[in-house]
Amino acid sequence: MAQIKASGTSPEVQLALHCAEIGAMPELNFAILGKPDFVFLKERVAVFIDGCFWHGCSEHYLPPANRQDFWQKKLFANQLRDLYVSEELNELGWRVIRIWEHDLRNPLALAIASLEIKAVLCSE
Ligand SMILES: [Zn+2]
Repeated sequence: MAQIKASGTSPEVQLALHCAEIGAMPELNFAILGKPDFVFLKERVAVFIDGCFWHGCSEHYLPPANRQDFWQKKLFANQLRDLYVSEELNELGWRVIRIWEHDLRNPLALAIASLEIKAVLCSE
């Protein structure tokens, strides 16, 4: 949560733009299970950007001081849903890429992530 910035484009949109720059055309707001941040329709690849707080990143997740039971359950439910969504999409023939929000912190990291996505798109 600490990473959220008041101004500028969100990391997922920045990553989508980077992908487009290197010739991988993402589709934003494509409605399938789990609402991926963007997809590549032709290659059937779904990309999720997982926030460190909501998805329980092991490096950055800090439980809030209050209502710890509530947050613990919430986090567990989120992680279960992530697993379920990834498995269901795989069943439906999609490849799923999950990227931590903390891996998109600067322009170099964004560029690397977009190259990694492109490599997945090119591998069948
Ligand atoms: Zn993190």
